[in-house]
Order: sequence, then structure tokens, then C-alpha cells
Amino acid sequence: MTIEYAPLYVVPTPLGNLADLSERARAVLSAVAWVAAEDTRHSAPLLRRIGAKARLLAAHAHNENAAAERVLALLASGESVALISDAGTPGISDPGARIVARAHAAGARVIPLPGPCAAITALSAAGFSEAHWLFFGFLPAKSGQRQAALQTVATLPYALVFYEAPHRVLESVADMAAILGAERALLIAREISKTFETLHRLPLNKAVDWLRADPMRQKGEFTLIVSGATAKENAPETAERLLRLFLAEDLPIKQASKLAATLSGRNKNELYARALTIRGQSTEN
Ligand code: SAM
Repeated sequence: MTIEYAPLYVVPTPLGNLADLSERARAVLSAVAWVAAEDTRHSAPLLRRIGAKARLLAAHAHNENAAAERVLALLASGESVALISDAGTPGISDPGARIVARAHAAGARVIPLPGPCAAITALSAAGFSEAHWLFFGFLPAKSGQRQAALQTVATLPYALVFYEAPHRVLESVADMAAILGAERALLIAREISKTFETLHRLPLNKAVDWLRADPMRQKGEFTLIVSGATAKENAPETAERLLRLFLAEDLPIKQASKLAATLSGRNKNELYARALTIRGQSTEN
């Protein structure tokens, strides 16, 4: 017997301004039988304010597997569920992925609603023209691990999107300047959609002084976006190292040089010629 699951809705909620709750989100939250919320106490006032009568169940980082089973049982019994987090989009540096994965595995329909997300909102106002961007989320809290994490993305020619807590923003920005490169551009997006919203774009090496100049600048919620590495910042040694690594893994020359070029921002044809030399071949062959 096939089970007819009710749908699981993934519903973004405002980052700070209630008016950012979409009409569709409002309608879904008002229509579903259950809302699975990261923090039920935090989300109850939102549901009350829009007159939603759904019952709440807790779905946070520490009970997500159990919550996933509970959500599945509800969907199986025909009761629709909306998944929400404290603010923004569930599953984006927030719980939700395991519940969604469980619903997919069971064959239930997952219906995502577009809506507020700090990363996307900040990106839209960053003005960086890189074709690609990478969402990193939170860096490790400890400095050594944070620096190591930054090393892993230092040569990527992609804009890098980070979330950061206010008490760590100063040290994180200092590490970014040291590891990613002092001249790269940084967008500080603070308190998006709230009363003290501040967006400020400046070179990374000016950021610590700017944040220190006024203690208010270190308060609230932060999304940080750093422009991608350019060929200038990417020393030729980086491309060479990547190329040798890919060739050692027996990747075809064309693929190895293309990958090394994408990751280092250096010229693909130059790296192709270099790869031929490394493999002991000539362009004539
Ligand atoms: N799921 C959320 C989303 O879609 O953006 C993110 C949740 S994560 C636990 C919270 C982090 O997102 C904050 O620490 C901050 O880095 C970033 N953030 C959330 N609200 C923000 C805001 N109003 N302005 C800037 N960054 C924000």
C-alpha cells in the first residue's frame, strides 16, 4: 500500500522586518496543521500575529532526527507541516536539512517557498561582479581553525559569503585580511532589514579600524562578503601546486588545467601548456 503523504513546506521567515513575510508564507502558515519550528517560543508570537492556528513542534539541531520521524508520521497521516527556523530560510546555517532529507527519502512532496535569507539579501547589495559565489556560513570559533578554514578558500576567484557573530566579527575580519589578502573588498552587512541596518563596503585591511571606530558597529547580526581572489593575489605557485595535484591524481591534462585555472583564476591555456610539460609531452604530440 502506498502512503499518500501530505506536503512538507519549507517557509522562510523575516530576518527582522515582519513585512518581509510573503503573502504565500502567511497563507501556508495559516493553512498547515503543524509548524515545525527551531524554537517554538521564538516562533509562537509570529504565528499569533498572523492569526495562524497551527500546532507547534520543536525541530532544532539537538532533536532533528527525532523531529524528522515525528514530521514524517504527521505527513503520513495526512497532516501538512511547515518547517521554519528562527529567522530567514530553514537549512541555511539553520536546522532543517535532515527533516527535508527524510521527507524526500519517504517520497513526500517538499515545497520550498522563496523568501528572506541574509546571504542572498547581502549579496544583492554587495555589488561584486564575480560570476560565482560561495556560501561558507560560520567560520570556526577558534583562531587557528578559522585561519585554516580561510586557507581552503583563499585562492578561489569566487565572492565568499560568511555569517559571523558580533563578538567574533573583529577577529574574523582581521584573519580574513591576513589570509585572504588585505586589498580584497569586504561588504559588511549588519542588521539587514532592522532599525540599525548598516551596509559598508571597504578594503579588508581597513575593516578592523572601521569596526573599532564606533562600538555600535560591532553590534547585531553580521553577514560578511569578500570579493573573489584575482590572478594578482593568486601567486603562480598556487596554480602550479593545483596543477601538479590534479595530474598526480591522473586527471586528463585538459581537465586538470581547466580545474586549476578555475580555482586559481589563472589562464587556462598557459596552464594547459605547463601541464603538457609536466607530463613530459609536447604540444605537437
Ligand atoms: N537561516 C538564516 C538565513 O537564511 O539567513 C541564517 C541563520 S544563522 C543561524 C544566523 C546568522 O545569519 C547570523 O548570525 C548572521 O550572521 C546572519 N544574519 C541573520 N540575520 C541577519 C541580519 N538581519 N543581518 C545580517 N546578517 C544576518
